[in-house]
Amino acid sequence: MNTLEAAKILTSLRKLLELEGENKFKLRALELAEENLKSTEIELIEFISLVESKQVSGIGTQLLKDLKEIENTKTLKAYQNLKNVYTDSIFELFKIRGLGASKIKTLFDNLQVNSIEKLKLAIAEKTIHNLKGFGDKSIASIEENINFLETWKGYFCIDVHEIAIDNIISKLGPFVQTSGTSKTKEEVFNKIELEAEENKRDEILIHLKEKLFKEKFEAEDKELITFNFKDLPVELRFVKKLDALATSDNQKLVGILHTHTTYSDGQHSIEEMANACISKGYSYLGITDHSKTAAYAGGLSEDKLKLQGLEIDELNEKLKPFKILKGIESDILNDGELDYPDKVLEKLDFVIASIHSGFNISKKQMTERITKAIKNPFTSILGHPTGRLLLKRPEYEVYMEEVINTAIEYNKIIELNSNPKRLDISWNWLKKYKDSPLKIVITPDAHSISQIDYVKYGQLLAEKAQFSNDKIVNYGSLNDFLKNVNEN
Ligand SMILES: [Zn+2]
Ligand SMILES: [Zn+2]
Repeated sequence: MNTLEAAKILTSLRKLLELEGENKFKLRALELAEENLKSTEIELIEFISLVESKQVSGIGTQLLKDLKEIENTKTLKAYQNLKNVYTDSIFELFKIRGLGASKIKTLFDNLQVNSIEKLKLAIAEKTIHNLKGFGDKSIASIEENINFLETWKGYFCIDVHEIAIDNIISKLGPFVQTSGTSKTKEEVFNKIELEAEENKRDEILIHLKEKLFKEKFEAEDKELITFNFKDLPVELRFVKKLDALATSDNQKLVGILHTHTTYSDGQHSIEEMANACISKGYSYLGITDHSKTAAYAGGLSEDKLKLQGLEIDELNEKLKPFKILKGIESDILNDGELDYPDKVLEKLDFVIASIHSGFNISKKQMTERITKAIKNPFTSILGHPTGRLLLKRPEYEVYMEEVINTAIEYNKIIELNSNPKRLDISWNWLKKYKDSPLKIVITPDAHSISQIDYVKYGQLLAEKAQFSNDKIVNYGSLNDFLKNVNEN
């Protein structure tokens, strides 16, 4: 059992405790423990000993007890008891956007709804209309969100795909390689496609059938070995650490930009992030915590931003010749303005402008809002330009051509956010604009050290789009990057 698997058990427990009306301090403690476990990525037993020797903080006595129980029994009794009440299918409801714990609890208590199927029935039979908090508008949006989920059922993000491929190939040996979309890459996948050397194919198929998939393996033809993601055993999907994945041998990225630290909602300090970048061979790092409007993500007050700047100055002395840049991920406000006055923004090395709220406006308004932010002289980079969360939330309505053309006209950079849940801007746009002067930056939007490696996914998709390397601004040196930022 590793810490990722343990975190998953705690996440499931937390959702059920939310239904039980558990107090928010206990829920928050659980959430912090989950983040801690997820960002550590080691064997659970090692993590427990780190907690016991006080090398990891923030894990209380009860949580430590829970972790030991998970280590010994692979589960938690408290969790199993709750799961018996609500059943496994209740977790489907948490995936529906706009349906929080209190609404799920209302559905469960009044209509015994504990699955998407039952929820659809309650909508069809109009029994849901009698419940408090379920007006016509909210029901319509629930239906829309269920449709979205069902469209993408059986699909997984690129990180899960890459880890699974790596696991499978390491188990099957050197006679197997990727094929089809597994080779050419997509943003989301519902299958894995492999090719085996002809004289090894029978042997490999038997191995797949008997050892890896048990009875579930069906799909095969003469040339390709294809299987559905949903049939893939769970242990092949997640066990590997991201940085254990093979990275491309010619490291093109010189600097890492768009990272969050403990100043806002990140897991690690500036120094920890910087040292991680140094050990991975990068030569600069741009820190961009959230701005003050993003209170939910611990957005920085002007004073805190100033303090961060001082800390960065000190670290730059200490870590020379490595360079940490002072940046911010500024919310684009509803009127298209950035989140700090000019006198604050002008002290920064660069600014990423992003939309994090206020999605429900017209396509025209959204386009005006974003293009106004691009034109702001302090904006260097437009962050995750469509706001989509793959398999979870569609993009907001916006005239992308106009956004991209404005960026080109004002000499601004568009982000390829490589978080596997975003991959935003989509490679389709990059392909369309590959012969234009559009400049992009490939960022991890890292909230922890391990997420720095997300850049790999953005790189795969930029390659798929055949976007030329010399228009990817952080493929260049620190000076090149600063020149790009200051040109406008
Ligand atoms: Zn963001
Ligand atoms: Zn971010």
